[in-house]
Amino acid sequence: MALIILGLDGMNEELLELCKESMPYLYSLRDRSFHATLKGVNPYLSGSSWTSIFTGKSIGKHGFVANCFYDKEGELQLVKEEDITEEFFYETIEKANNKMFLMDLPFSRSTKIKGDIVRNIFDASTVQGTCKPASLKSKFPSINDYINTKWKAKSILGALEHMDQTVINNQKILKEVMLHNKKTKEYDLLFFQFAVIDWIQHKVLLDLIAKKNSAETKIAKKTLTRIDNIIKWMIEEIQSEDDFMLFSDHGSSIFDGVLHINCLLKQNGYLIEKTTVQDKDGNSKAIKYKKTEIFFDYLVKKIKEYGPLHNLSKKWYRLIRGYLPYDPVNKKGLKIDRNLTKAVAELKHVPIIKLLEENKEQREKTKEEIKKIIETELDLRCYNTEDYYSVSDPKKIETLHRRFGHILIEIIDKYDFDNVITDKTIIHKKAQFHDSKAFFLAYTKNNDPEKTEIGKRITGEMCDIAPTVLDYFSIPNNLDGKNLNVFNRTYNQVRPKRNPTERIFKKLKI
Ligand SMILES: [Zn+2]
Repeated sequence: MALIILGLDGMNEELLELCKESMPYLYSLRDRSFHATLKGVNPYLSGSSWTSIFTGKSIGKHGFVANCFYDKEGELQLVKEEDITEEFFYETIEKANNKMFLMDLPFSRSTKIKGDIVRNIFDASTVQGTCKPASLKSKFPSINDYINTKWKAKSILGALEHMDQTVINNQKILKEVMLHNKKTKEYDLLFFQFAVIDWIQHKVLLDLIAKKNSAETKIAKKTLTRIDNIIKWMIEEIQSEDDFMLFSDHGSSIFDGVLHINCLLKQNGYLIEKTTVQDKDGNSKAIKYKKTEIFFDYLVKKIKEYGPLHNLSKKWYRLIRGYLPYDPVNKKGLKIDRNLTKAVAELKHVPIIKLLEENKEQREKTKEEIKKIIETELDLRCYNTEDYYSVSDPKKIETLHRRFGHILIEIIDKYDFDNVITDKTIIHKKAQFHDSKAFFLAYTKNNDPEKTEIGKRITGEMCDIAPTVLDYFSIPNNLDGKNLNVFNRTYNQVRPKRNPTERIFKKLKI
């Protein structure tokens, strides 16, 4: 008697089609369930997407465009948990006196809820331990082997092996909790998440498409099959009173090119690179790059110009990266003169331009000029960020501009977006990154195919998940999305509402 949710970061129907032999169960389950490709939020990053899933609100309302931004001094700042004031759907569900178990929910806010939670790596409270309450470890011993990291490897193969291990270990928690709930009916909501499908695509999607039979693709497929077996196990284990949902936060695509907008801004005189730095006494001195830096800059330029070389050199690059004075490909920070620069794109994968001029009139003029250049030269549509995200509150607009910027370029599923300053605005090379197409599926065991149009393809958006879940728990809400109408009953119809003390008595065995 529960709503059981499986979150799969980065899952999408193209991957399911490509790897149907590795995921035969999900492939057939899709046709027996309500399913959809949900439209994601732009930028298609996990932080902005999961926040829209959890809040049921658009980016304009929750304000989480990316998980970091640059302040006036050009220092990188993290978006803090308290910056998002919108309620997460599981907080609302808990307030309505329901008990839940959450595992590895990205960008989750476990400080606001009592539990039970096995924490995600992005959870600001990770330092407080992997789970809440701490006693959860003795209740479910498999939590002792929980893994929520992805960075413990130097090679692609090592990373893939580590990812596979996270599935092996974390599925034990899922199974232990589900079997516990089958006996005790303690939880009303069970929500598990695996990030591995996103990671696999970052590492080997190109190789999977090319049908390469390498050690890397072999282990990737093995992991996909492992996830497929988990889904099979879950569907077989759920009770006829249970309902099941599976969804992702975004999809994954291979783009034909990378858009380096800072190059266009530099060519048109809006962006000025830094030529001097302040020494410790406050005197300006010219930036003198070390010889090695000039050499590596040249190398990186060449690597970026020739996509195939970049891919070929990944292993070599990974090896030498450790010996370099800085990371030449994923450079941290932009060396721009903030006094002379009028416009800059500050974040990788976030197609937004920030205007730095203080004078409002000047800024508006620059904004219109840049929009015109992009629309004519690149044939891409531009929007004012506040219009694109439908923000009308002047205070919220000010925060949006200050943190993330003023012009949004709509590059939906066309280019990958990078902020590095190079000589070419568009570099044609195969590049993998997130896209707008997220996966969704809902399944109920006792659905009568005659009555419920089972297997129906539906349409929807990211913000529709929260209202669907809240309506299922009969909780009134006023969210941006709509109910996807995938369940022909509500939770309260299935199970009469308990009063709060009943659960405590049950625990004490009175
Ligand atoms: Zn990703």
